[in-house]
Amino acid sequence: MSYDVIVIGAGLGGLTAGAKLSKEGKKVLLIEQHSIPGGCATTFKRKDLKIEVGLHMIDGLDDNDPKLKIFKEFGVLDNLEFKRVPEFYRFIKPGVNMTIPDNYEQAIEVLTERFPAEKKGILKFFKVILALRKEVFKVPRQKWKMLLSMPLFPFYAPNLMIHENTTVGQFLDALFDDEDLKLALLATLGYYHNDPYNMSLLYFSIAQGSFFSGGGYFIKGGSQMLSDYLASIIEDHDGKIIYGHMVNEIIIKNGAATGVKYSKESANIGEQQNAYGKYIVANAALPNVMGELLKDTQAKTKLSNAVGNPEIAPSILSVYLGFKKPPKDLGNRSYSTIFFNGGLFNQKELAEYHHTDLSKRVFIFVDYSQIDSGLAPEGKSIGTFSAIDYISDWDSLSKEQYEERKELAAQTLINRLDKHIPGIKNEIEYYEVGTPMTIKRYTLNPKGTAYGYAQIPSQTGRKRVKIQSPIHNLFFASAWAEPGHGFTGAILSGYWCAEDILRKGNR
Ligand SMILES: Cc1cc2nc3c(=O)[nH]c(=O)nc-3n(C[C@H](O)[C@H](O)[C@H](O)COP(=O)(O)OP(=O)(O)OC[C@H]3O[C@@H](n4cnc5c(N)ncnc54)[C@H](O)[C@@H]3O)c2cc1C
Repeated sequence: MSYDVIVIGAGLGGLTAGAKLSKEGKKVLLIEQHSIPGGCATTFKRKDLKIEVGLHMIDGLDDNDPKLKIFKEFGVLDNLEFKRVPEFYRFIKPGVNMTIPDNYEQAIEVLTERFPAEKKGILKFFKVILALRKEVFKVPRQKWKMLLSMPLFPFYAPNLMIHENTTVGQFLDALFDDEDLKLALLATLGYYHNDPYNMSLLYFSIAQGSFFSGGGYFIKGGSQMLSDYLASIIEDHDGKIIYGHMVNEIIIKNGAATGVKYSKESANIGEQQNAYGKYIVANAALPNVMGELLKDTQAKTKLSNAVGNPEIAPSILSVYLGFKKPPKDLGNRSYSTIFFNGGLFNQKELAEYHHTDLSKRVFIFVDYSQIDSGLAPEGKSIGTFSAIDYISDWDSLSKEQYEERKELAAQTLINRLDKHIPGIKNEIEYYEVGTPMTIKRYTLNPKGTAYGYAQIPSQTGRKRVKIQSPIHNLFFASAWAEPGHGFTGAILSGYWCAEDILRKGNR
């Protein structure tokens, strides 16, 4: 069977690319190894509870957010309910307990009231991060590529020019003396990376600037609603989605991608089938494309030479919680609470506290009872703990050790939460732990990352633009590709990939 486009993987990048291409009249086949669409953007059922795998908040949706145009084009906002979360986050460490609002004017007010001596730096911080976000999105993406090589570039993007290689850590050290303030501004670092001293200021600014401009949103009913909706666009436009099938090989002929080999069972087991397409889109992790999916040695070498061996981002530990009584009824007032209460005092220690023992590690508690989440029946609710985590701490354990470590992780974080919300422990009716191994199993992402390549200066901005396929008719749409990870990054990468294919097809 022959198609215009074959998409490997139904994560947000693959679904968005498939949706746009089918809407534009392309005949799309999407092959997904799991039984449902979404990758990290999924939910699962436990009795009467719907458990959200990944989504805490999706950022922006303001006029400067490029995905707003995509959502409008796809009818996403007419078909799904986006619930604005009440604040950006609450930050807790010894001596500090403050709520950071989800708009920059109020955030400036709250921060200057708490740290009056740092007012000048606070104003500069917001000026620069908002300007960086604006500069990146004010020019359409295709023009960017042209502009990047032009002498006029500094006039279009002065902040980008200055800060392209700056890390968040360097930026905060240059602006502030107060370590509590630096940590308060870094509370959500775990949404992107583990170490402020190699986190790209540019990427941090695009994401944080988006939350501070448009706020954060949860999709009522969970992220699966968005994934299902995108899948329905593909199917409603005569596209085909095959679930429960693994692509084992990208077929290369005369140096160009021409199709895929896939089978029902895991790699190379079961009956192999071939499907052919003019274009192949890999939502599958880029290292896997370079590793097992390309068997043609010339193509493999060409891609490896082009992409190199970028650093892979860390993974995430999640503890999913079901409450008999919503934390809201026990006095909790925040949707996202970030705990830095393990003995961490300055940003130089932050990377270490994103890896230390869970009794001290930085973690976040998301309380979905603060909004109408659509995840639990009346009177009950759902919550999640998340922390940066590493597959190397899990992948060599025996089955018993693995289960023991999971149980310890859950109990440690539950006890830490109980100190903050006394009695919450007794209201938990369900908990389950998702490790980096779990993310790897469901997405096949190396190291169980959900963030693709690390968002560090040497792999972001202009360097990220270079992460493109040198192989004819092979394209990438995922957190691994341009622009990067998160719901926004994956959706943009899928849309941009579809635009590239449409442009090529129309030539
Ligand atoms: C716990 C957690 C919390 C998160 N919280 C947030 C948040 O609050 N806000 C936010 O913006 N982002 C969040 N993220 C990150 C965000 O979800 C991801 O960055 C994004 O969804 C990745 O999308 P992707 O397109 O790269 O695909 P992925 O989600 O990585 O999915 C890839 C898909 O491809 C399929 N696949 C791979 N190889 C093959 C193959 N060979 N054959 C067939 N199928 C294949 C996989 O099965 C999978 O379905 C979170 C992620 C996690 C895990």
